[in-house]
Amino acid sequence: MVFDQERDDLAMHRVMDFRRRSVSDEQMRRFEGYMAEIFETFGLDLRTQATEQTPKRFIQALFDATEGYDGDPKLLTTFDNEYRDEPHSRLSQVIEGPIPFIALCEHHALPFHGRAYVGYVADEQIIGISKLTRLVRLFAKRFTMQERLVQQIADAFDAMLQPYGIAVYLEAEHLCKEMRGVRETSSLTRTSVWRGEYESNSSLRVEFLLAIGADL
Ligand SMILES: [Zn+2]
Repeated sequence: MVFDQERDDLAMHRVMDFRRRSVSDEQMRRFEGYMAEIFETFGLDLRTQATEQTPKRFIQALFDATEGYDGDPKLLTTFDNEYRDEPHSRLSQVIEGPIPFIALCEHHALPFHGRAYVGYVADEQIIGISKLTRLVRLFAKRFTMQERLVQQIADAFDAMLQPYGIAVYLEAEHLCKEMRGVRETSSLTRTSVWRGEYESNSSLRVEFLLAIGADL
Protein backbone atom coordinates (compact mmCIF):
# COMPACT_ATOMS: atom_id res chain seq x y z
CA MET A 1 0.00 0.00 0.00
CA VAL A 2 1.34 3.41 -0.91
CA PHE A 3 0.99 5.73 2.02
CA ASP A 4 -0.22 9.20 1.09
CA GLN A 5 1.01 11.38 3.93
CA GLU A 6 -0.80 14.52 2.85
CA ARG A 7 -4.15 12.84 2.40
CA ASP A 8 -3.90 11.11 5.77
CA ASP A 9 -2.84 14.31 7.57
CA LEU A 10 -5.97 15.95 6.19
CA ALA A 11 -8.10 13.00 7.28
CA MET A 12 -6.61 13.19 10.76
CA HIS A 13 -7.33 16.90 11.13
CA ARG A 14 -10.87 16.39 9.83
CA VAL A 15 -11.78 13.58 12.20
CA MET A 16 -10.05 15.20 15.16
CA ASP A 17 -11.93 18.47 14.75
CA PHE A 18 -9.32 20.81 16.26
CA ARG A 19 -10.52 24.30 17.08
CA ARG A 20 -7.54 25.86 18.91
CA ARG A 21 -9.30 27.84 21.59
CA SER A 22 -8.15 31.26 22.62
CA VAL A 23 -9.50 32.84 25.79
CA SER A 24 -8.18 36.22 26.92
CA ASP A 25 -7.33 37.12 30.53
CA GLU A 26 -10.13 39.67 30.42
CA GLN A 27 -12.64 36.93 29.44
CA MET A 28 -11.38 34.61 32.18
CA ARG A 29 -11.88 37.36 34.79
CA ARG A 30 -15.38 37.99 33.49
CA PHE A 31 -16.23 34.24 33.61
CA GLU A 32 -14.93 34.09 37.21
CA GLY A 33 -17.32 36.91 38.03
CA TYR A 34 -20.24 34.98 36.53
CA MET A 35 -19.32 31.91 38.57
CA ALA A 36 -18.93 33.94 41.77
CA GLU A 37 -22.47 35.26 41.32
CA ILE A 38 -23.87 31.78 40.64
CA PHE A 39 -22.02 30.12 43.54
CA GLU A 40 -23.05 32.80 46.03
CA THR A 41 -26.67 32.82 44.91
CA PHE A 42 -26.80 29.02 45.18
CA GLY A 43 -25.44 29.08 48.73
CA LEU A 44 -21.64 29.04 48.71
CA ASP A 45 -19.98 31.59 51.01
CA LEU A 46 -17.09 33.03 49.00
CA ARG A 47 -15.82 35.22 51.85
CA THR A 48 -13.66 32.50 53.44
CA GLN A 49 -10.01 31.78 52.81
CA ALA A 50 -10.90 28.36 51.42
CA THR A 51 -13.52 29.60 48.98
CA GLU A 52 -12.49 33.08 47.83
CA GLN A 53 -10.57 31.61 44.89
CA THR A 54 -13.21 28.97 44.09
CA PRO A 55 -14.73 30.77 41.05
CA LYS A 56 -11.24 31.19 39.56
CA ARG A 57 -10.33 27.56 40.28
CA PHE A 58 -13.63 26.33 38.87
CA ILE A 59 -13.22 28.20 35.56
CA GLN A 60 -9.62 27.01 35.21
CA ALA A 61 -10.63 23.41 36.01
CA LEU A 62 -13.41 23.56 33.43
CA PHE A 63 -10.98 24.90 30.84
CA ASP A 64 -8.45 22.16 31.63
CA ALA A 65 -11.11 19.43 31.57
CA THR A 66 -12.02 20.42 28.01
CA GLU A 67 -8.48 20.68 26.62
CA GLY A 68 -9.32 18.01 24.04
CA TYR A 69 -10.55 20.85 21.79
CA ASP A 70 -6.96 22.08 21.52
CA GLY A 71 -5.73 18.85 19.96
CA ASP A 72 -2.73 16.77 20.93
CA PRO A 73 0.47 17.64 19.04
CA LYS A 74 2.22 14.50 20.33
CA LEU A 75 -0.48 12.33 18.82
CA LEU A 76 -0.13 14.01 15.43
CA THR A 77 3.66 13.94 15.31
CA THR A 78 3.99 10.30 16.19
CA PHE A 79 1.17 8.57 14.35
CA ASP A 80 3.00 8.36 11.03
CA ASN A 81 6.04 6.51 12.36
CA GLU A 82 4.27 3.22 12.78
CA TYR A 83 4.25 2.09 9.18
CA ARG A 84 5.97 -1.11 8.27
CA ASP A 85 5.52 -4.04 5.93
CA GLU A 86 4.54 -7.09 7.86
CA PRO A 87 2.64 -10.22 6.92
CA HIS A 88 -0.84 -9.93 8.35
CA SER A 89 -3.78 -12.08 9.22
CA ARG A 90 -7.39 -10.96 9.26
CA LEU A 91 -8.06 -13.17 12.26
CA SER A 92 -5.46 -11.75 14.63
CA GLN A 93 -6.69 -8.95 16.80
CA VAL A 94 -4.92 -6.62 19.18
CA ILE A 95 -6.94 -5.63 22.23
CA GLU A 96 -5.95 -2.69 24.45
CA GLY A 97 -7.54 -1.47 27.65
CA PRO A 98 -8.89 -0.55 30.03
CA ILE A 99 -8.09 3.08 29.19
CA PRO A 100 -9.63 5.26 31.91
CA PHE A 101 -11.30 8.48 30.78
CA ILE A 102 -13.30 11.39 32.19
CA ALA A 103 -15.57 13.45 29.93
CA LEU A 104 -18.21 16.15 30.40
CA CYS A 105 -21.74 15.37 29.23
CA GLU A 106 -22.89 18.07 26.86
CA HIS A 107 -26.44 18.04 28.28
CA HIS A 108 -25.47 18.97 31.85
CA ALA A 109 -21.73 19.78 31.68
CA LEU A 110 -21.26 17.23 34.47
CA PRO A 111 -18.69 14.42 34.28
CA PHE A 112 -19.14 10.92 33.02
CA HIS A 113 -16.22 8.62 33.62
CA GLY A 114 -15.29 5.08 32.80
CA ARG A 115 -13.08 2.83 30.74
CA ALA A 116 -12.45 2.42 27.02
CA TYR A 117 -11.32 -0.73 25.22
CA VAL A 118 -10.03 -0.75 21.66
CA GLY A 119 -9.59 -3.82 19.50
CA TYR A 120 -8.28 -3.94 15.95
CA VAL A 121 -7.26 -6.33 13.22
CA ALA A 122 -4.02 -4.74 12.04
CA ASP A 123 -3.12 -4.18 8.42
CA GLU A 124 0.37 -2.71 8.16
CA GLN A 125 0.53 -0.76 11.37
CA ILE A 126 0.22 -1.20 15.06
CA ILE A 127 -0.09 1.39 17.79
CA GLY A 128 0.96 1.51 21.44
CA ILE A 129 -1.31 1.85 24.43
CA SER A 130 0.10 5.31 25.23
CA LYS A 131 -1.09 6.64 21.88
CA LEU A 132 -4.47 5.00 22.32
CA THR A 133 -4.75 6.68 25.69
CA ARG A 134 -3.98 10.04 24.03
CA LEU A 135 -6.57 9.34 21.35
CA VAL A 136 -9.31 8.49 23.87
CA ARG A 137 -8.51 11.59 25.98
CA LEU A 138 -8.42 13.86 22.93
CA PHE A 139 -12.15 13.26 22.45
CA ALA A 140 -13.11 12.62 26.08
CA LYS A 141 -11.80 15.98 27.29
CA ARG A 142 -14.62 17.89 25.66
CA PHE A 143 -18.33 18.48 26.13
CA THR A 144 -19.63 15.36 24.49
CA MET A 145 -21.85 12.31 24.80
CA GLN A 146 -20.86 8.70 25.13
CA GLU A 147 -22.51 7.74 21.83
CA ARG A 148 -20.42 10.32 19.93
CA LEU A 149 -17.22 9.59 21.84
CA VAL A 150 -17.22 5.94 20.81
CA GLN A 151 -17.73 6.87 17.13
CA GLN A 152 -15.04 9.58 17.16
CA ILE A 153 -12.47 7.22 18.65
CA ALA A 154 -13.25 4.67 15.93
CA ASP A 155 -13.12 7.33 13.15
CA ALA A 156 -9.76 8.73 14.28
CA PHE A 157 -8.31 5.29 14.82
CA ASP A 158 -9.41 4.34 11.30
CA ALA A 159 -7.74 7.47 9.88
CA MET A 160 -4.54 6.72 11.80
CA LEU A 161 -4.06 3.04 11.04
CA GLN A 162 -6.56 1.94 8.38
CA PRO A 163 -6.84 -1.48 10.00
CA TYR A 164 -9.00 -4.32 8.66
CA GLY A 165 -11.30 -3.99 11.62
CA ILE A 166 -11.96 -1.78 14.64
CA ALA A 167 -13.87 -2.44 17.84
CA VAL A 168 -14.38 0.29 20.43
CA TYR A 169 -16.23 -0.36 23.68
CA LEU A 170 -16.95 2.21 26.39
CA GLU A 171 -18.51 1.75 29.80
CA ALA A 172 -19.16 4.80 31.94
CA GLU A 173 -21.00 6.18 34.94
CA HIS A 174 -22.81 9.47 34.38
CA LEU A 175 -22.76 11.86 37.32
CA CYS A 176 -25.68 13.83 35.85
CA LYS A 177 -27.79 10.71 36.43
CA GLU A 178 -26.36 9.98 39.86
CA MET A 179 -26.38 13.51 41.31
CA ARG A 180 -29.93 14.42 40.34
CA GLY A 181 -33.07 13.17 38.63
CA VAL A 182 -33.27 9.40 38.42
CA ARG A 183 -30.36 8.84 40.87
CA GLU A 184 -29.22 5.60 39.31
CA THR A 185 -26.17 5.16 41.47
CA SER A 186 -23.49 2.89 40.00
CA SER A 187 -25.36 2.07 36.79
CA LEU A 188 -23.05 1.66 33.81
CA THR A 189 -23.84 2.85 30.30
CA ARG A 190 -22.17 0.72 27.63
CA THR A 191 -21.59 1.69 24.01
CA SER A 192 -19.82 -0.23 21.27
CA VAL A 193 -18.80 0.28 17.65
CA TRP A 194 -17.81 -2.47 15.22
CA ARG A 195 -16.09 -1.70 11.93
CA GLY A 196 -14.69 -3.81 9.11
CA GLU A 197 -13.91 -7.43 9.98
CA TYR A 198 -15.79 -7.14 13.28
CA GLU A 199 -19.03 -6.41 11.40
CA SER A 200 -18.95 -9.71 9.51
CA ASN A 201 -17.11 -11.97 11.95
CA SER A 202 -19.05 -12.66 15.14
CA SER A 203 -16.26 -14.80 16.61
CA LEU A 204 -13.95 -11.76 16.56
CA ARG A 205 -16.60 -9.81 18.46
CA VAL A 206 -17.05 -12.58 21.02
CA GLU A 207 -13.28 -12.94 21.49
CA PHE A 208 -13.00 -9.17 22.00
CA LEU A 209 -15.85 -9.03 24.53
CA LEU A 210 -14.51 -12.04 26.45
CA ALA A 211 -11.01 -10.55 26.51
CA ILE A 212 -12.24 -7.29 28.06
CA GLY A 213 -14.46 -9.09 30.54
CA ALA A 214 -17.77 -7.74 29.24
CA ASP A 215 -21.04 -9.46 30.10
CA LEU A 216 -22.20 -11.47 27.06
ZN1 LIG B 1 -25.95 14.55 31.31
